[in-house]
Amino acid sequence: MSQLTADTLVIGSGPGGYEAAVRSAQLGMKTVVVERGELGGVCTNVGCIPSKALIAESHRYQSVRQWSSHTASSSFAQAQAFKSAVVSRQAGGVRFLLQNAGVTVVQGEASLLDEHTAVVTREGEEQLISFRHAILATGSRPIELQAVPFGGRVLSSTEALSLTEVPASLIIVGGGYIGVELGQMYAKFGAKVTIVEAGGQVLPGFETGLTAPIVRQLSEDGVTIITEASVLSADQDQKGLTLHYVKHNEQQLIQAQYAIVTVGRRPNTDGSLGLERIGIQTAARGMIVTDEQCRTSIPHIFAIGDITHGPALAHKASYEAKVAAEAIAGKPSAVDYKAIPLVVFSEPELASVGLTEAECRAQGIAVVVGKSSFAINGRALALKAGEGFVKLIAEQGSGIVLGAQIVGAEASTLISELALAIEMGATAEDVAMTIHPHPTLGEVTMEAAGKAAKQM
Ligand code: NAD
Repeated sequence: MSQLTADTLVIGSGPGGYEAAVRSAQLGMKTVVVERGELGGVCTNVGCIPSKALIAESHRYQSVRQWSSHTASSSFAQAQAFKSAVVSRQAGGVRFLLQNAGVTVVQGEASLLDEHTAVVTREGEEQLISFRHAILATGSRPIELQAVPFGGRVLSSTEALSLTEVPASLIIVGGGYIGVELGQMYAKFGAKVTIVEAGGQVLPGFETGLTAPIVRQLSEDGVTIITEASVLSADQDQKGLTLHYVKHNEQQLIQAQYAIVTVGRRPNTDGSLGLERIGIQTAARGMIVTDEQCRTSIPHIFAIGDITHGPALAHKASYEAKVAAEAIAGKPSAVDYKAIPLVVFSEPELASVGLTEAECRAQGIAVVVGKSSFAINGRALALKAGEGFVKLIAEQGSGIVLGAQIVGAEASTLISELALAIEMGATAEDVAMTIHPHPTLGEVTMEAAGKAAKQM
């Protein structure tokens, strides 16, 4: 059996793992990253990147359809080809970054044998890796519903990104981030989409004022939303699928060609990874317990990303990756989660950072709120994107920005300015007095900040 040694062993090469490996190598440590699937993990291959490529293509398709007679089938085939090209370019970028940093990449499935040894298995071959430190970054996978198990016409988000044709009809079970993003994308390509959601609204974590413009656009795209529905079972045959659910104590059914189940993700901390064998502490739902430097209960082993508490977001994983690698290098880095942006890539986009108004009130923090609409912004009107608003929450008295929510065009990009404001301890006045170029969507942020500042 061959043997490798590493100062830092990273298990998993998603946005957490590859960032951790690159940072560790840059800090002068001999670094090995082990990956059982494709380099870049879920985000690069079957998550963020392919979904955003298809979402962007669905928007382009919708615009083009207004001017020409493109058919959905030829356009969707082109969109899938475009997606694959984007994914392979991005995955190539991950490989290049790792190579450039001098990281050794090992393909295979890693299991922890003891506190300083892992075995990597691939096609019956085994390789031992002894390590001084390890960073676990094994990510998550879609949750399967017992009532509607994956298989046949019931797809997870992974298969949903690789359909070769636009289905005539599609049921989405779970109207969260993935359900809304993929449901709207397929609706824009012409599928008849129904979202079946257990909660009282789609995107249940967000205020209804923020989700209302998205619900309106979903309706315009032909999406039907059924809320407060409890899914019972699904029957499938060669032609399609029937989903049975209960709403207000009444049993109902809907039929479609496929169902996509997007009811959340679970951490990859079970299976052969070996956490129990070496005694790493986990909490509810298999999440690994970590401290502010991302150390597990075994201090030289770290865990980052979807396998730890907090939102399952690529950028949270890559942020923790830097902290963990720096902690291993002896730096005093520690996580500070006060400004993690959340983004839904719907149309219009939704983004949030820091505290919401309700969270501030629940914590007894007195706040002022400034809100400004896209409808009075010239650039937004020119882009036919007059729907939406920026809401900025600042502490009463000091004016320090505590949070912001945006629904509207480019919310995913606009939110970074407000994440920086929170990170820097800026006030609403600082944001309002920053000269924003005209005509841009950023002026909506400046206006909202100005309104908050006037109430100080
Ligand atoms: P989610 O937690 O966002 O949404 C799951 C939805 O399913 C919720 O609305 C929930 O009420 C509903 N639900 C749960 N059980 C149900 C049931 N039995 N029947 C019907 N509805 C049910 O989960 P997701 O959309 O699967 O995404 C998983 C994670 O991936 C997210 O939490 C997010 O962190 C991440 N993600 C992020 C982005 C992004 O940043 N844009 C995009 C996709 C995914």
